[in-house]
Amino acid sequence: MASKRDYYEILGVSKDASRGEIKKAYRKLAMKYHPDVSKDPDAEEKFKEISEAYAILSDEKKRAQYDKFGHAGIDGQYTEEDIFRGADFDDIFRSFGFGGGFEDIFSSIFRFGGGRPQRPRGEDLEYVMRITLREAASGTEKEIEAQVFDICPRCGGSRAEPGSGTETCPMCHGSGQVRNAQRTPFGTFTTVSTCPKCRGEGVMIKKPCKECRGRGRTRVKKTIKVSIPQGVDDGFTLRLKGEGNRIPNGEAGDLFVRIYVEEDPVFKRGGNDLYVEREISFTQAALGTKITVPTLDGEATLKIPAGTQSHTVFRLKGKGIKGFNSWRRGDEFIRVIVKVPEKLSKKQKELLEEFENESSH
Ligand SMILES: [Zn+2]
Ligand SMILES: [Zn+2]
Repeated sequence: MASKRDYYEILGVSKDASRGEIKKAYRKLAMKYHPDVSKDPDAEEKFKEISEAYAILSDEKKRAQYDKFGHAGIDGQYTEEDIFRGADFDDIFRSFGFGGGFEDIFSSIFRFGGGRPQRPRGEDLEYVMRITLREAASGTEKEIEAQVFDICPRCGGSRAEPGSGTETCPMCHGSGQVRNAQRTPFGTFTTVSTCPKCRGEGVMIKKPCKECRGRGRTRVKKTIKVSIPQGVDDGFTLRLKGEGNRIPNGEAGDLFVRIYVEEDPVFKRGGNDLYVEREISFTQAALGTKITVPTLDGEATLKIPAGTQSHTVFRLKGKGIKGFNSWRRGDEFIRVIVKVPEKLSKKQKELLEEFENESSH
């Protein structure tokens, strides 16, 4: 067996890295080596390696065990499934912008949960959508392209190459069940279980479909319209029912669209209120003036009274964002920063000296 690399080294973090740093490092690497997006031929192996490192280092107990005993402390204690149990992957995968939920990826790579009965429902998918603050404020319609599994068009989900037919399962003779006799001191017990050869279907495919290689579904690019309601904030998640992965003889999963609101160069958002900073000159502050300020509805005029101090905050009532499921619009707050000139002309200097003399009398 090849010797295993150090978990900290794999994630490129120091031995005293915080949980946050570990999560960040893993997220970055997972984006790179995710088998769906990576062109690296060893992506699957690398993804597995970083995921294992993350599962251990993000778990306090397992991390302590590893720090103390190294790989021996982990490999002898946990099965592969136990290593990943309880690790917080969902949160990370939900923030990825491509399809394939955590379970989908992990079951195909690690082949966990092979004994579980098949769900009659396709997997849910997640998609991260970036929108601007203005789009969030007004609501918008967007189209996304998602990679989803759809029923194979060649075999219609039957998994068999068209015209090739099926044959009765030789193991269960079509019943889909197998009986196992167990001899015990108390007698012979018979247990009935699902036939492992045909997975309970009773029939076997003679020739698997060429298009889907016998899976019954294929990955397709789908364009999906998403309408984003007015006032949504960062992290808001929309559920599009039935837009997730499809499986033969089952219902489709859902598509979860998570909204990521980009930072705006002008407005900062806090709840449904907006925050803006504006510079004014110290003469404008002293004498009072009118300035134009940006709002979501266009420019507005703001009166600055004489004698305004730096960092004074003015409120424009109702100029904020109308929150999702909210009756009223938030407010816009404008903080004025009084700027002292860094360079003065000769004339300006004379005037200010005169001003200073006047003030000190
Ligand atoms: Zn097919
Ligand atoms: Zn069978």
